[in-house]
Amino acid sequence: MIIAVDGPAASGKGTIASRLARHYGLPHLDTGLLYRAVGLGVARAGGDPASASDALAACGFADALLADPALKGEEAGRAASIVSAHPAVRAALLERQRAFARQPGGAVLDGRDIGTVIAPDADAKLFVTASPEVRAERRHREMVRLGLPGDQDAVLADIRARDERDSARSAAPLRQAEDAVLLDTSDMGIDAAVQRAIALVEARMGRGV
Ligand code: C5P
Repeated sequence: MIIAVDGPAASGKGTIASRLARHYGLPHLDTGLLYRAVGLGVARAGGDPASASDALAACGFADALLADPALKGEEAGRAASIVSAHPAVRAALLERQRAFARQPGGAVLDGRDIGTVIAPDADAKLFVTASPEVRAERRHREMVRLGLPGDQDAVLADIRARDERDSARSAAPLRQAEDAVLLDTSDMGIDAAVQRAIALVEARMGRGV
């Protein structure tokens, strides 16, 4: 069974995807990490994320980079959303994601274009969203928990800028697949959102809960 989970930054999609993976005993790939690895690689090489050739040169990163805690930072997230607009970067990362999705037994992938491009034939597709204000509040709370600097207004501005870049780009923009189910988590705690996600997958599989 392949489960595709897409949505904007801080919508809860990452937690929902990892809890779905645990629930169904499937491997999980957070595809944002791949773009973050490219963004961080460009920054560390002193390159420009807006340059397609600099970004493409960073696509051959070693798997070990995916465990680097710096990938979770705001800097890597911003660079990721710039490098991810280059069609050549998306093409370079495509096969790796497709191979993960097609492994025997299936997988859960989360990102922006899983249901539309990476796994259009996924068995269940969720589009997880929440208002920008709620997402900024969540991201800011997480930053405080991790002891990272940043105020909530700046986080909200960054989230809006990222939404705009991810939705406006011509290569695989962020959008809900036609056959994806919408899950708005604005008024839900994470546990309720996960339960709802499981119920939606079960309904899609014709099992109901
Ligand atoms: O999900 P996360 O915030 O880690 O993703 C970082 C950036 O990587 C996103 O803002 C988006 O621009 C890009 N991305 C993408 N396609 C994906 C996953 C992430 O373009 N499948």
